[in-house]
Amino acid sequence: MITVENISKSFAAGSTGAPVVALRDVSLAVEAGSLYGVVGPSGAGKSTLARCIALQERPDRGVVRFDGLNTAALDGRKLRDARRQLGIVDTRLQPERTVAGNVAAPLERLGVEGPQRRNRVGTLLDLIGLTRRATQLPGDLSEGQRRRVAVARALAAGPSVLLADDPTGGVESEESGSVLAVLDRARAELGATVLVTTPDASVARRVCDDVALLERGAVLESGNVLGLLGKH
Ligand code: ADP
Ligand code: ADP
Repeated sequence: MITVENISKSFAAGSTGAPVVALRDVSLAVEAGSLYGVVGPSGAGKSTLARCIALQERPDRGVVRFDGLNTAALDGRKLRDARRQLGIVDTRLQPERTVAGNVAAPLERLGVEGPQRRNRVGTLLDLIGLTRRATQLPGDLSEGQRRRVAVARALAAGPSVLLADDPTGGVESEESGSVLAVLDRARAELGATVLVTTPDASVARRVCDDVALLERGAVLESGNVLGLLGKH
């Protein structure tokens, strides 16, 4: 369970302008094992919120808690331990490594070797439906397939939370369903708690349980997706 409690974040503007307020007093609660969506237009603060939850950025005020633990109080080893629970989808793949190699990279860093590594990579390639493309390079894939590889890589180390900032942005609409299906499988088959941001309400309707509607840095409403965004 992730709770965000009254976080605010501003960025210094250029030499003249006033600071940019990216998040104002944002609170939300993500239930363990759910697929949660932060929905809002460009500039609403989605990425900033995602980076705060990913422990990549510290809010100016307020706290992010993992299972009640105040992450603002963490440093050193405890911060690294908390970060290890997070799988952050980074769309920049290593272009010179194969699909399998990209998924294996976090396992290599953890010292997971041999058949154990191969089995884990095999399980994840199966989860994303790209087993037959294991030895291809990212450049040989479609954008939607590359996103699925990025999700598999984020899951490699077995995080309890998967974070994907605009997972279908820049993906052809015919392919976005297969990207979302992989996020849904991460939740259903691996038991991960999944948090996505998207400017697209239809993305949230397709996979999210709960959503927060973000506008100009503030949560307008949050709750069950059907209640807030209606049916498909
Ligand atoms: P979204 O992801 O919803 O498009 P962002 O979180 O990227 O929104 O941005 C929210 C606001 O904060 C925007 O006005 C953006 O320009 C500003 N912002 C975000 N990150 C930075 C940063 N590192 N430096 C300065 N301004 C930023
Ligand atoms: P590259 O050099 O292109 O990154 P590697 O041959 O180093 O690719 O493979 C990286 C990892 O992926 C290895 O740990 C290997 O165990 C695993 N791997 C390679 N092919 C497969 C496959 N078809 N199924 C599962 N795992 C694979």
